[in-house]
Amino acid sequence: MDMDLDGRVVAVTGGSSGVGLATIRRLHGEGALIATCARDGNRLAKAMSDLGIPSDRLHTTVADVRDIAQVEQFVEGALNQFGRIDGLVNNAGRSLMKGLRDTTAQDWRDELDLKFQGVLNTTSAALEALRATGAGAIVNINAVLSVQPEPALVATSAARAGVLNLSRSMASEYARDNIRVNSVCLGLIDTGQWLRRFEASRSSLTYEEWQGELAAERRIPLGRLGTADEVAALVVFLLSPRASYITGAAYDVSGGINRGVH
Ligand code: NDP
Repeated sequence: MDMDLDGRVVAVTGGSSGVGLATIRRLHGEGALIATCARDGNRLAKAMSDLGIPSDRLHTTVADVRDIAQVEQFVEGALNQFGRIDGLVNNAGRSLMKGLRDTTAQDWRDELDLKFQGVLNTTSAALEALRATGAGAIVNINAVLSVQPEPALVATSAARAGVLNLSRSMASEYARDNIRVNSVCLGLIDTGQWLRRFEASRSSLTYEEWQGELAAERRIPLGRLGTADEVAALVVFLLSPRASYITGAAYDVSGGINRGVH
């Protein structure tokens, strides 16, 4: 299916790894121009150079999504280079592995800052540009945790629930400007996040064996972790004009781990 993204400009936060990187790879393949940011500039530069995107089709900025000044600089740089922004993927983030008893007041603030302020900062910085295209699209990368909390990820689960709620309000508010806002809720996706947890576990298993045990323990119906590219395929569709009547929706990419009915 032609996604009709050729020549459109998409900003993806957290593009140096995992879901963000896979999304950029697919967008580039569709002919889109890319703006991306992350905190570690060297890792971002290496990831983009490995993708081989020509410099006239790529804008990168070192920016932390929690810092509005840095985010505004990122968006301004993209607009200076490309003159427009058609799509925004609020992807940057991580999770906090802590139960209720261990989660400090600072942990709660940090988690809300990253999940809420991160999304609000990039969205407000890019809003005028998205409005100006007459058909903007925002995809908020979220988690199944937003509706199915994990006791070991208590602050992340609660923050994710809030962002799912916020995404619905954004969809209602921005519909008048023909900006669509959708959520993609991930289950367990094989990215840098899980590799770091595997390394920290000092397990004697191989990474593949460790993932197999994890999938069984979490009772993932499809029996495996997902890939970043399996997430990117949906993100690219939601950004594209092919999804022109879809807004305020939330889709799981989770191998069926969500046990609720909705
Ligand atoms: P990765 O760790 O592979 O990549 C995260 C990306 O975000 C990196 O580019 C990282 O670069 C960037 N990033 C992190 N924090 C910030 C920040 N404050 N400002 C700017 N960039 C930042 O993670 P995934 O691809 O797995 O995760 C992508 C999103 O999906 C995240 O929001 C994550 O919470 C969510 N998610 C992932 C799940 C999974 O199983 N993988 C499950 C549920 C949700 P740098 O560190 O250099 O800033």
